[in-house]
Amino acid sequence: MNNTSGKHIALISVHGDPAMEIGKEEAGGQNVYVRQVGEALAEQGWYVDMFTRKTSVEHPKVVEHSSRCRTIRLTAGPESFIPRQEIFGYCSEFLEKLLKFQEQENIKYSLVHTNYWLSAWVGMAWKKRQSIKQVHTYHSLGSVKYKSVATIPMIAGTRLGVEKAVLETAERVVATSPQEKENMRSLVSRKGKIEIIPCGTDMRRFSSFNRYAARQQLGFNIEDKVILYVGRFDQRKGIETLVRAVSRSQLRGKTNLKLIIAGGSRCGKTDGRERDRIERLVVELGIKEFTSFPGSLSGDLLPAHYAAADVCVVPSYYEPFGLVAIEAMASGTPVVASKVGGLQYTVLPEETGLLVPPKNDLTLAAAINSILTNPEWKHQLGFRARARVENKFTWERVAYRLNNLYTDLLRDSVKTLEPASA
Ligand code: UDP
Repeated sequence: MNNTSGKHIALISVHGDPAMEIGKEEAGGQNVYVRQVGEALAEQGWYVDMFTRKTSVEHPKVVEHSSRCRTIRLTAGPESFIPRQEIFGYCSEFLEKLLKFQEQENIKYSLVHTNYWLSAWVGMAWKKRQSIKQVHTYHSLGSVKYKSVATIPMIAGTRLGVEKAVLETAERVVATSPQEKENMRSLVSRKGKIEIIPCGTDMRRFSSFNRYAARQQLGFNIEDKVILYVGRFDQRKGIETLVRAVSRSQLRGKTNLKLIIAGGSRCGKTDGRERDRIERLVVELGIKEFTSFPGSLSGDLLPAHYAAADVCVVPSYYEPFGLVAIEAMASGTPVVASKVGGLQYTVLPEETGLLVPPKNDLTLAAAINSILTNPEWKHQLGFRARARVENKFTWERVAYRLNNLYTDLLRDSVKTLEPASA
């Protein structure tokens, strides 16, 4: 074993590949979180290996992000995309491959940070085989999600059981907002240790454009009223409520209205079905003429869209944190969001945007309209939104907090091994 032992940590994200281009099949906030946290922790001196399931024969097995941070793709089940509700059956194979990798590389990880319930299961099974500390981030809680969607998958019972067990047994569970902590306590278990560490965003990336430069780059007119949605195509994202809101008369009557629904992939499976459904609805509601679906946005295009927008809408039915809201805010764009989950923590009503009840297109339309019709207020909201993100939600802050948490947990484990002093 080399002299870096004790500084080796594993992040597990079975279904969200941190090296994956965002916007592809089901890739979203979790992929961004794991990658950003991994890279930021490496900068703090940790050796970070991020384990994920290999979903394509063409993907390299190992991707080096820096000298201390890499993504390792393990073969568990077919090397192809599988929807997340079908992955559980491959989790024990995933763990075997991980343990084999650890042995081959002669590394001993001292701590594992698991992401989403599938990885939680792997982390708990790992703890039964080896002494290792577990930190867990849920990214989504089954007990909340199942209340907000129409169809409940077969795997729901298993998921709920794993989510309860990990809260009760992990050394620490990270809640990304006070609302998520409250949900864990009221719906999952009164036992277990929770620490609130919010998600972050890349200020440099999302403040790189001003509105005029962004509009010029994207070919938008300065008079355009731009409403932006960014995210995955998933029923719980509430895109249906947004398109219904935009079809309401007070918004529809506006000239130069542009609705941009960004994200998702054409070749997707579950993603593609929801996208097709929304595209059909846009036609039915008669708003096709001013609605566009640019697909997944990456590189400069994503910050340019946020900066060019008059308002970014996050109409989710459930959102544990919601990175899109803070990315838009970092870009100086006000956010109209559903009053659910972590959005109640990031978006301050009347200060950085507006909060509205979920699934209510009438109220959503009124909120969007109030911002579009008052450019001066829009500007003030956007200015305060950026300041809020700068002060509270950067990846550097997240890594600093996680670094302290890991250090404390590992110090505790050393203490328990030391003989009690006389
Ligand atoms: N995203 C992106 N390009 C897209 C759509 C989404 O890069 O076209 C990113 C977005 O910037 C954000 C993440 O995907 O960082 C979505 O995270 P969020 O927490 O909002 O939603 P989740 O996917 O976790 O439900």
